[in-house]
Amino acid sequence: MNTAARSDVLVVGTGLGGLRVAEHVRDLGHTGRITMVGEETHLPYDRPPLSKQLLTGAWQAHQLSLRGPADFEALGVELVPGQRVCALRTGEVETTDGTVWSADSIVLATGVIARRLPGQPESALSLRTIDDAHRLRAAMEQARSLLVVGSGFVGAEVASSALKRGMAVTVLESAATPFARTLGAGVGDICARLMREAGVDLRTNAQVTGFSDPSSDATEIHLADGTSIGADVTVVGIGGVPDVGWLARPGLDLADGIRCDGSGRVLGLTDVWAVGDVAAWQDDTGTFRRREHWTSATVQASVVAHSIMGVLPPTDKPPYVWSDQFGIKIQVVGHTDDADHVVPLEGEALSGGQIRGSVIGYVRNDQLAGLVGFGAARELGRLRPTLTRPMSHSR
Ligand SMILES: Cc1cc2nc3c(=O)[nH]c(=O)nc-3n(C[C@H](O)[C@H](O)[C@H](O)COP(=O)(O)OP(=O)(O)OC[C@H]3O[C@@H](n4cnc5c(N)ncnc54)[C@H](O)[C@@H]3O)c2cc1C
Repeated sequence: MNTAARSDVLVVGTGLGGLRVAEHVRDLGHTGRITMVGEETHLPYDRPPLSKQLLTGAWQAHQLSLRGPADFEALGVELVPGQRVCALRTGEVETTDGTVWSADSIVLATGVIARRLPGQPESALSLRTIDDAHRLRAAMEQARSLLVVGSGFVGAEVASSALKRGMAVTVLESAATPFARTLGAGVGDICARLMREAGVDLRTNAQVTGFSDPSSDATEIHLADGTSIGADVTVVGIGGVPDVGWLARPGLDLADGIRCDGSGRVLGLTDVWAVGDVAAWQDDTGTFRRREHWTSATVQASVVAHSIMGVLPPTDKPPYVWSDQFGIKIQVVGHTDDADHVVPLEGEALSGGQIRGSVIGYVRNDQLAGLVGFGAARELGRLRPTLTRPMSHSR
């Protein structure tokens, strides 16, 4: 075991959620030591542009930076990059170099890693980090065709960026409709239409059964219907998985992320909180939900900082997520996954008409629980105050 370092607040993970916790704790008047320990060697950066501006070449890497070295000095936050935390004990964590970091309050903000398909070769790329994005962009610069497995937000955005670069794009989706589970089949059909009208060859009900020639640069994918498909570049975008094996201990449920109460306190541990993609917070229905969204990480960071400082958090807001694809901003506000039915509130998209300018409402128990807008920021802004179900944090 190496030297011990002591801090009042120790944040594991130097991504968005971890950074925002450190900033809020300082803003709330904490005068003691705040340390952030993270595996990546980069300064904290923003991930949404990885699949958008960085891939199209519109932005360079430095434009993703969330804070520079001088900011950390001004904030009084010690940033320790390039260190992976491998053990958590009461009041301390240990990094792989053997250093023990003790703290009064520990925040786990370790995000997720890209989910991989069984047998996925290295030549089939993933997109989670800035290094992944550089690798993908370099591959796209040499290529004419792209195959994307998964039509979720990241898969669709990669497809959209590749179209902008003039590539031929095929997207494989295992379900009958993209986004059917979270947005429902009707709105999923709109997303599929958006993709196809832009020029993507979207193939639904496409079950990947394997890859051929793992050593080759050009990956070929085999499908359950007996066909095979290949492209110059292959990307697998099928979501994220919490990388929490190092936290395993009796009494800690890590089945899907780190289970927390409604203020981010990890269940079964003392003075440990979790935020962001890795955290499964309990909502007002008692369900544990992980949300892999930018706004959730920032809202949770504020709630956790308030909890650490022993003050009431700000008022709840409904969950919000956006995606930029095929020239349209898709915005999702509130709860869309447990609606009784959907209703068109603006525009004609739901009945097969123009997509841009449409807003769809999600109704549950006769109350408007969620909204999805397609290139309809103004209309969505007007309807937003009518949402009846706030985001669930216990205070
Ligand atoms: C390509 C892409 C596009 C996206 N676009 C959108 C979008 O348009 N809209 C939207 O709402 N959301 C988007 N998101 C999601 C959003 O970026 C995430 O929800 C957000 O980054 C979550 O922040 P986080 O702090 O939980 O995790 P991260 O930002 O992933 O940070 C976690 C950090 O912890 C580090 N870490 C992990 N394990 C350890 C360990 N054991 N020890 C030390 N450090 C560790 C990781 O290396 C990483 O640096 C996108 C994500 C990606 C990948």
